Amino acid sequence: MIQGFSPLLIVRPALWLAVVVVATILLRRRKVTPGVRLSFIVGGVLVFGFLFAQTAGVGLQPNPVAALRTVLGRMFIQGPGGVAGSPMLTILPAVVLLILLGAGWVSNKAICGWVCPFGLLQDLFHRVPLPKCRPSFRLTNTVRAGAFVALVVGLVVAGFDWIEKADPFSLFSLNLTQWAIALVAVVLIAALFVYRPWCRFLCPFGLVSWLLEQVSVLRPRIDREACKECKVCVKACPTTAMADIYDGKKLHADCFACGACIAACPQKEALQWRK
Ligand code: SF4
Ligand code: SF4
Repeated sequence: MIQGFSPLLIVRPALWLAVVVVATILLRRRKVTPGVRLSFIVGGVLVFGFLFAQTAGVGLQPNPVAALRTVLGRMFIQGPGGVAGSPMLTILPAVVLLILLGAGWVSNKAICGWVCPFGLLQDLFHRVPLPKCRPSFRLTNTVRAGAFVALVVGLVVAGFDWIEKADPFSLFSLNLTQWAIALVAVVLIAALFVYRPWCRFLCPFGLVSWLLEQVSVLRPRIDREACKECKVCVKACPTTAMADIYDGKKLHADCFACGACIAACPQKEALQWRK
């Protein structure tokens, strides 16, 4: 858990927000080409992953999951790591978490899609040209909900945080436990075939932000008049999100704001990142 206050606790979320703003502008202007996307992915892994890990000091690596875990830990664990800790260090993670979730709500999970280093690393691995499979959303979300329940029950009953034992983000500080090495290896191998397996099967922030994205302001929206029903967007989407959006379902699977559907659409007006 966080041991002391540092201005970096504010600077890092501010940089995350700046990238979300730039990504949103690019999505709205249909400027997310494969090259642009790849540079943000590689840059995000290097800066938000490895560089930020060097500035983390003692405690959690800076990332959206750490913000959520800190808040949950302080809600459910009594003692120095919990509500009895410094009020400043209790309020700040909550504020950061609210800002991250707010950004995800405004621009549909763009925090996950453009900022989170472990999400971006999985994205990078998924680019290796190998056969891909798309597990059903029902499967991924059920497993993820179970992992979230296990996290909360562990914290409440025994002060136990299962992610702390196998934190995949510790990869960026090169300070992994044996459990983390095993988890990272499994996730990155799986990511060669399945898009963002950690995000969609296990991540607690992924679950919470998925709930929010159902009511997000900006997201891929189809203009039915302009749409030629070619479904190129559905094929381009690495998850089943675009299929759900195309079918007009009330709940859609995780959309990571990657922009692939918009880039693929041959009708400029038919698919846009808008209200
Ligand atoms: S869902 Fe993926 S991208 Fe989003 S916070 Fe979790 S690990 Fe990061
Ligand atoms: S391709 Fe899929 S994940 Fe990417 S922005 Fe479109 S709907 Fe979202």
